[in-house]
Amino acid sequence: MEKKIECGIVYDLLPNYIEHVTNEYSNKFIENHLNTCEECKKLYDNLNNEMNTNSSTKAEINFFKKYKKHLNILKIIIGVILIIGIALTVNTIRKVKILDNAQNKISEYINSSNYYIKSTTYENNVETIVETYKKDNVILQKITQNSQEGTSSLINYSNNETTNTYINNGDSKIAILDVKNPIMATDIENWTYTQSKKECIASAFMCSIKSEKLNGINCYKITNFYPAQKFMPDFNDFYFYIDKETGLMIKNSKDGETNYEYKFNVVTDKDLIEPNINEYIVQENS
Ligand SMILES: [Zn+2]
Repeated sequence: MEKKIECGIVYDLLPNYIEHVTNEYSNKFIENHLNTCEECKKLYDNLNNEMNTNSSTKAEINFFKKYKKHLNILKIIIGVILIIGIALTVNTIRKVKILDNAQNKISEYINSSNYYIKSTTYENNVETIVETYKKDNVILQKITQNSQEGTSSLINYSNNETTNTYINNGDSKIAILDVKNPIMATDIENWTYTQSKKECIASAFMCSIKSEKLNGINCYKITNFYPAQKFMPDFNDFYFYIDKETGLMIKNSKDGETNYEYKFNVVTDKDLIEPNINEYIVQENS
């Protein structure tokens, strides 16, 4: 075959040869020609280089396209996680601040030596009212229970050393005097108190705090305050209200529903007068 014609055939076949789509007879023909024709060999080398670069660039572009797509999805996922994380953190910080604030406010009252607390609880059609008068070391506590069966009351009078108890169940009045263990005062409960900062953050993270008005008082309603509460069915939906102004707890869902009223520095000696002992049968204190 004339060389020019061979070159023309090889020239036509080269692209297919490089992409390995020529048959083995053509391959042999091309390879034989390339071994003898420098011009076509050069052409082959150039074409081969060019086509390989092209295909590798294409693969690279595809790879980057895919990579970019994945990167965008990843960016969106990270963005969503970040937003949720930031929202949770901001909300937790808000709650830590509220709890911290409540603790600071209540500390003004918690060590008061002169206060009156009234708690009212309704449970199973029984109303229980506990009134505590505290002035220095003297505590008078009156517990009244109203039910369909009637009213009964119990009065504890306690100084630092002894307690006198007066029981009136409607039919009889009994007094037990000079019991050596003084009763504990009904302390001003601080349920927003946590042992440590860690616990405070854990509580803040878990609990929900909402602003609500209760009997005209601006309150925070706090639910799920105790992290462990989530796992105790008895405590489900357990909540309490604190007065925004004072930090004092004014309602909770312990034992039904209990409401609290407080007065400070108004208890006088008159509030601490024991019942008339002559009306009571004194029972021996054994
Ligand atoms: Zn040639």
